[in-house]
This record gives sequence, C-alpha cells and structure tokens, in this order.
Amino acid sequence: AETESRHRLLEVVHLNQSATAGALSASIAHELNQPLGAIRSNAEAAAVILRSERPDLELIGQILVDIQDDDQRAHDVISRIRGLLKKRSEIDWQEFDLNDVATSAIRILRGEAERRSVVVSSSQTSRELPVRADRVHVQQVILNLATNAMDAMLEVITTEKRLLLETRLTTESQVELSISDTGRGIPDERLASVFEPFYTTKPNGTGLGLSIARAILETYGGKISAANRPGGGAVFRVVLPLARNG
Ligand code: ADP
Repeated sequence: AETESRHRLLEVVHLNQSATAGALSASIAHELNQPLGAIRSNAEAAAVILRSERPDLELIGQILVDIQDDDQRAHDVISRIRGLLKKRSEIDWQEFDLNDVATSAIRILRGEAERRSVVVSSSQTSRELPVRADRVHVQQVILNLATNAMDAMLEVITTEKRLLLETRLTTESQVELSISDTGRGIPDERLASVFEPFYTTKPNGTGLGLSIARAILETYGGKISAANRPGGGAVFRVVLPLARNG
C-alpha cells in the first residue's frame, strides 16, 4: 500500500512537473476558480450596494470579510499545490479532528450551496476523530468532492438537491467521511475511471480533481471510493487511519 501510495503521488508530481506545465496550470485553475469566482461576485455585490441611495455599510463590511477569507483560501490552494510537489518528509503533518475540517468545509460551501439551491446537512460522530495529515490537503479534498456533488445536481429538477457530509468511525483504526448527493449518479462502468487523471464529463472540466484527491489521501494512508446510492445520486467515501484511540 505504501509503495502504491508513493507511486500515485509520484504520478501526480510527475504529471505536474513534466506532463506539462499545462496540466499543473489546469489543476491550479480548477481549484482557484471557486475562491476567485466568490471574490468577484462579492465585489460586484458590494458595488451594487454602494450605488444604492443609503448603502448598508455593515453589509459591505461583512462582504469585505468574506473577500478576505476567500483570498486566504486561494493562498492555501497555492501552497497546497506547492505542497504536492514536496517530498513526503517535507509535508506539514498535523494531528486534527476530521469533524472540525468537515465543519469548516461546510462553512466555506454554504454560500455556493445557497446560490445553487442545495440543502447541506451533516451528521457527525460525537467523539473526536483524530487523523494525521496536512489539514489544508484534507480540506481541499472535501471541497472538491462537495463541488463535484453540486455540479452533479445542476440539472436535477425532479428531486430536492441534497448534499450530506457524514463522519464516522468504521473500525477500531479507521475514520470515514462520506459525501452523498441526489444528483445524476455515475454510470456503474465508470465508478473506477472517475479517478483517472483527465477523465471528465464537464465542458470545462480538467478531470484532475479526483485523481489529485486520491493521490493526497494515499499519501496519508487513506483511500477513496465511489458508489451510487440506492435512491439515486452518488456517494464518495474517504477513509483515513485513526491517529490515536480515545
Ligand atoms: P472534473 O470535476 O474537472 O470533471 P474530477 O476528477 O473532479 O474532474 O471528476 C471527474 C468526473 O467524475 C466528473 O467530470 C464527473 O463526470 C464525475 N463525477 C465526480 N463526482 C461526481 C458526482 N458526485 N456525481 C456524478 N458524477 C461525478
């Protein structure tokens, strides 16, 4: 597993370094799109408010805070991509509670979910789920999966659009985070190939999100898998080793 994981990371590193500057820039573009888009729409909203007769300055203050947060996130993405190019020994290992990262990812997603009429809910274990990894990497994986889930629900009109983040302890030594949606699901014969680099069904997709997510998780001794839910929609499961018990 160790060799396999190193191999995967090397695959991505290789992809980034040589398969082309193109692939790397595509992946950066992919992940920067969200914070940059949010900054832009927030700035536009602020401009509209300022043109009104009695501008709501408190609201503008809040918008500026959001812009700063999104800017920070863009910085984190860039340092994460730099981090992907790091050697294993140079990774910023931290111990943190997976529940906390799930909660902060939901906070980041809220605005986008509202814009897309997606109802976000979460179900978390009450106990701590300590894992050892670079926190920003894990957060990025969750954001990627959630963004994919919302993309998959874009054209769904018949059912309510629901995004569910769940954390639980699977065995004595593993924690699981699952992200399920009520989107169009994944054709069964594609369940494995969605993780291949450059596999995409989106007009502007890069097909790199899931391959990078897999490489990140394997670096930390984790795994990712995809399945379809019986009631429709897809579920992605992320498993990481529990850092310590109790
Ligand atoms: P991209 O988002 O750029 O297409 P990804 O590697 O993140 O790249 O995803 C690859 C493909 O996997 C997507 O284009 C989509 O076809 C499929 N996919 C990913 N997540 C979901 C989901 N939640 N529901 C349905 N299909 C999905």
